[in-house]
Amino acid sequence: MTKILIIYTGGTIGMVNDSKTGTLIPFDFEQIENNVPELARLDYQLSVHSFDPILDSSNMNPEIWTELAELIKEKYHEFDGFVILHGSDTMSYTAAALSFMLQNLAKPVVLTGSQLPIGEIRTDAKENLITALEIAATKKDGKAMVPEVSVYFDFQLFRGNRSIKNDSEKFEAFSSPNYPILAEAGVNLDFFSNYILPIPTEEFQIHTTFNSNIGVLKMYPGITENAVRAITESKVDAIVLESFGSGNTTTADWFIACLQEAILNDKIIVDISQCNGGSVQLGKYETSRKLQKMGILSGYDMTFEATVTKLMYLMGKGLAIDEIKKLMEVPIAGELTN
Ligand code: ASP
Repeated sequence: MTKILIIYTGGTIGMVNDSKTGTLIPFDFEQIENNVPELARLDYQLSVHSFDPILDSSNMNPEIWTELAELIKEKYHEFDGFVILHGSDTMSYTAAALSFMLQNLAKPVVLTGSQLPIGEIRTDAKENLITALEIAATKKDGKAMVPEVSVYFDFQLFRGNRSIKNDSEKFEAFSSPNYPILAEAGVNLDFFSNYILPIPTEEFQIHTTFNSNIGVLKMYPGITENAVRAITESKVDAIVLESFGSGNTTTADWFIACLQEAILNDKIIVDISQCNGGSVQLGKYETSRKLQKMGILSGYDMTFEATVTKLMYLMGKGLAIDEIKKLMEVPIAGELTN
């Protein structure tokens, strides 16, 4: 019999209204079960592991990603798939981090949550939970249909490290602007296997060390030298440069000098676009040619979430800086197209 482990970390899906403050607070898994009697009718075996404490996902961090990866490793051979219930706010970060941490994954790890608590009449939580379980349990020729870390929300399944939360109110809260969806739920569950990662041939293993000493420099017209230097001269090991369009920035001499100094001080700088869709193309315009020449890396079409977690992961491995730079520009878990 197929066995699925539900890992409950928290999020709106399981929250209830605190009568004293009127705010939403995380609550136990039992009330989720009570609200979805359908769980008892599924023809596979469910087990539940609740995190303690359960969290609003704004409090997620690399230590908890590590706990998740270690739990999956411990239970890897016992279960056919894993469904992680998670707040939607940082779900894409956790999904991207796990996609790097869980190497040679041959089983589904599906993250889901909801915009309304499961106890509310109009909730989206039941559909999200039940279909995420169905996806985690689906097999083809005896093997997992989706052997990768994914995010399921509002009838669509996304590659985890390609997903972004792009709406805080609509049920359709997630999208994946630079990669096709992996599956769609309608009357049938349609899987698009051309876009799903193949079953790996090597042994499953996890990586759990991170270096999160990363700064972010988001471009805007009128940005001052003072503001730029606050990042480029800080003690961070890497900088994510959120540029305009296809990777462009101002060409002001002081700005180029700031970046050049940071590079000479061995900081890794990765250029990703403020646009959700499309890719960085260094050298396409004069306004990005200098960046390319000084050794700024192209993040191509990576999401911000994937860029940050990939840097944390690669820098945490203690690799030589040139090796980190090389790996940042190639896909290691389906996170970019170059
Ligand atoms: N603040 C909540 C969280 O991320 C939002 C949600 O779950 O949708 O935990």
